[in-house]
Amino acid sequence: MKSLEPLPTVHPPRDASSASVRARRLRPLEGKAAGTLIVHEVYRSIQGESTFAGLPCVFVRLTACHLRCSYCDTPHAFHQGEAMGLDAVLAEVEKHGGGLVELTGGEPLLQEESYPLMTALADRGWTVLLETSGGLPIDRVDPRARVILDVKTPASGEAGANVWSNLDRLKPTDEVKFVLGDRGDFEWSLDVIRRHGLVGRCPILMSAVFDRVDPTELAGWILESGLPIRLQVQLHKILWDPKARGV
Ligand code: SF4
Repeated sequence: MKSLEPLPTVHPPRDASSASVRARRLRPLEGKAAGTLIVHEVYRSIQGESTFAGLPCVFVRLTACHLRCSYCDTPHAFHQGEAMGLDAVLAEVEKHGGGLVELTGGEPLLQEESYPLMTALADRGWTVLLETSGGLPIDRVDPRARVILDVKTPASGEAGANVWSNLDRLKPTDEVKFVLGDRGDFEWSLDVIRRHGLVGRCPILMSAVFDRVDPTELAGWILESGLPIRLQVQLHKILWDPKARGV
């Protein structure tokens, strides 16, 4: 399907386009040696924000993001991280057994080595999830990886960063996710879903920004819409302290 033009945004996008802002945000990756990844943390927890929610999962949180979403709950991953070779990352993941693994961030696709990491994990029998901002192309991701693709809404402040052609590349095993900061975001997201014919292509997830939209209210909006949208709650914020890291 041909990509449609981006919808008008309600809130002006932040200045993520300027080269100097982007360079500053990517500074933690400067000087990174080929074959290494800057890793913020590797840990095992409960998957909370996809159709895999509720399952134990190993998370590989990679450092740095080129965006600054208004609701971001992982700003600690913008800067802090340790350089690790691909084999060291694989060994760290495999310490936790097998099963489900998710690359997240930050934005994992900013680091070239994320691509061979996903391939190596899939080769070793892991079910691989990639949580990505939607602000970079997903065309080189190993097709065995399941992409959980954010579509940045106006209230995120980063709707201008969406790579709209990503929506044409979604596989049935991928998932598309809208994180809503207000009712306007909901209406905007319905428009995106309709304009890009997303119903029936892959699961469509919606979640509410913590403390900004009541999930009960969002449930009502979804029911009213008549669309097969899956309501997501931020499970880790219910299970653990909302500010806790590594959960
Ligand atoms: S894309 Fe993710 S990590 Fe980056 S600013 Fe937005 S919420 Fe935070």
